[in-house]
Amino acid sequence: MSSISALICRSCGREYPVEPINACDYCFGPLEVAYNYEAISKVISRKKIESGPYSMLRYHDLLPIDLENAVEINAGFTPLMKCSNLGKALGLENLYIKNDSVNPTFSFKDRVVTVAATKAREFGFDTLACASTGNLACSVAAHAARAGMKAFVFIPADLERGKVVGAAVYNPTLIAVDGSYDEVNRLCSEIGDNYPWAFVNINIRPFYAEGSKTLAYEVAEQLGWKAPDHTVVPAASGSMSTKIWKGLKEFSNLGLIGKVNTRMHVAQPEGCSPIIEAYDSKTLQVKPVKANTIAKSLAIGNPTDGIYALKTIQESKGSAVVAMESEIADSIKLLAETEGIFTETAGGVVISGLKRLVNEGKIKRDELTVAYITGNGLKTIEAVEDAVKPVFTKPNLEAFEESMHAGATL
Ligand SMILES: *Cc1c(COP(=O)(O)O)cnc(C)c1O
Ligand SMILES: [Zn+2]
Repeated sequence: MSSISALICRSCGREYPVEPINACDYCFGPLEVAYNYEAISKVISRKKIESGPYSMLRYHDLLPIDLENAVEINAGFTPLMKCSNLGKALGLENLYIKNDSVNPTFSFKDRVVTVAATKAREFGFDTLACASTGNLACSVAAHAARAGMKAFVFIPADLERGKVVGAAVYNPTLIAVDGSYDEVNRLCSEIGDNYPWAFVNINIRPFYAEGSKTLAYEVAEQLGWKAPDHTVVPAASGSMSTKIWKGLKEFSNLGLIGKVNTRMHVAQPEGCSPIIEAYDSKTLQVKPVKANTIAKSLAIGNPTDGIYALKTIQESKGSAVVAMESEIADSIKLLAETEGIFTETAGGVVISGLKRLVNEGKIKRDELTVAYITGNGLKTIEAVEDAVKPVFTKPNLEAFEESMHAGATL
């Protein structure tokens, strides 16, 4: 049995029953899942986790779902790789990549949707829906297919082909909206008021968001039950960064790891960096921006959890770091060339941010650093395809040698 006691307003602390709701009636603050940690501490242990399923569900005691009901496509349990080649290039001796690009639908969104889809079915919904910057659409469509639910997924019409096809193939109703993500999100809020659908990132959001905590649990377990000195995390709505921090603190409070001294660094692209702008202006008030970035998965101009991402940075003594648009493709290539990991533009933002943090002395050479790579490069080949060309040849030895000599490309 899951040990959730209530939903609680993150802003004023009022409690609500466990229902498909996401905002406080009194102050409009976002609702969050509250757990009965005393009950959890009696059942959870390193040993129990280690003998659990080889997926994010090994942490089900700290998720708001029952294991027996899980809508599973095997999200999580992704590799944590020590990256000495990239480390050497950047000046770090203790660098790890959490490679979440190898999830079933090729992004970390499978973690949040596993929880949301399970919860939606528990609540009795027959339709899953979402407002998406791309990856979420893929994951919602796949989980709905697996659960035998209907799916309505809404995306901005100008997304990369890999994400459009990568969602459409699961046969949802895919709605391409002539507008930005922020407009898609507003539309979906209106639709949600009129249709009895489980919008994973709107009315199911308190549960959905909890799935990101498994990004912290897994890293702590994979490091041999300890927290890193630094994490670098991409931000769109800002939710993931706050939940990684929450997950580390939960593990520590439950005695599964020691004290947490992790500094949380949040990376955004130059063309959509409202959280960084607030951080630089030393305010918790996030001013919405009009997004214009090649990192489309991060193109949220009005981030729902921006203020909580800023509080996470403050509490952990971390920072917010920008990636220049012109650096993103080079960073994708750098990670691919040094470590054999092909990430999407959001990962390029993280690697650019990591580089800047090292150059500015915010991360020291020997400190244990984990960079979260949250999406797969095959979904955004547009970002690098002009920079990578095969050598072209006719099918005979002479032509091959000539082509090699001339450096002919296709
Ligand atoms: C959605 C997404 C993010 C950002 O997640 P938030 O929790 O909204 O900040 C990061 N990386 C990728 C690849 C994503 O698809
Ligand atoms: Zn409230």
